[in-house]
Amino acid sequence: MFSVADCSKEGKHHLHHGEVTEGVLQLDDVVVTEVDAGRRQATALNHSATHLLHAALRNVLGEHVQQKGSLVDAERLRFDFSHYEAVTDEQLEQIEKLVNEQIRTNVAVETEIMSIDAAKEMGAMALFGEKYDADVRVLSMGDFSLELCGGTHASRTGDIGLFRIVSEAGIAAGVRRIEAVTGANALSYVDETDALVAEVAAILKGSRSNLLDKVKQLSERTRQLEKELERANARLASAQSGDLLSQVQQVNGIAVLATHLEGADPKSLRELMDQLKNKLGSGVVVLMAHSDGKVSVVAGVTKDLTSRIKAGDLVRELALILGGKGGGRPDMAQGGGQMQLLFRLHCSVSLSC
Ligand SMILES: [Zn+2]
Repeated sequence: MFSVADCSKEGKHHLHHGEVTEGVLQLDDVVVTEVDAGRRQATALNHSATHLLHAALRNVLGEHVQQKGSLVDAERLRFDFSHYEAVTDEQLEQIEKLVNEQIRTNVAVETEIMSIDAAKEMGAMALFGEKYDADVRVLSMGDFSLELCGGTHASRTGDIGLFRIVSEAGIAAGVRRIEAVTGANALSYVDETDALVAEVAAILKGSRSNLLDKVKQLSERTRQLEKELERANARLASAQSGDLLSQVQQVNGIAVLATHLEGADPKSLRELMDQLKNKLGSGVVVLMAHSDGKVSVVAGVTKDLTSRIKAGDLVRELALILGGKGGGRPDMAQGGGQMQLLFRLHCSVSLSC
């Protein structure tokens, strides 16, 4: 027994690639061939749908669409074509709809052998990178698709059952790729999507009909909570500012407040720094906070001192130690760095004027 995994063409010969799984294969042996009917049919459906897809693409996107590559197996079809921008969701919907319309017309898939010249005169498109003989096989699906093709096809478009695009992406400059499924695989795809919708609806304690509203509400609620959290953080930072003033040190006659705060975000750090600068009247404020492995640094210098110390210089130096970057104006600057380098600062913060 010889199990065929692949097939290729060399001149006029078809080469079968595979593995002897039982017994021995010898020259002049008579073999009985058997086709995996299920796989062959699934592949034929995907292949036939590729013709419809090609025609639909030219219909929706324009005549510039040309086949750049194609791969068909029992699971799916892949079609590469020339087009210079992403295919929009609306266009994909239109393409899918057109192909499914052609499937429902259930026209016969017909083939006819004729001379290459006659085929060209009919307007048949060449497909699948074949080298054509003088006589060619012209495949037609109603008025919708007319191409040269020697492949295996469904007998009527209706056999394809259902066509679903599963992805669209760019693969090279000016070349897009569409992957799609047909027949039983397309139904499985729809079933999976239905199951996903049901699962999401269950998590949100909703149903298919109100799922969109539920997701919108959830997203709105998250935004509200984020704002509330921001306000709460600002209030917390403001409450802390009173205590922080007790940490002010005099360095060369300048009031300096350098401290580290738990869980403050950059925005509340800036607000807190403004408050501290106001309360100090004259001085330098350096605040740090960390979250998610990142350290935020904000520095402020009151106007009367910016000729001697610049906030931007302070932040730049701190950020350098923290393996990050930062900068800003002489009176206000901000930056950041990595949490794991914070230890470097423990003994190195010294402000000299
Ligand atoms: Zn074909």
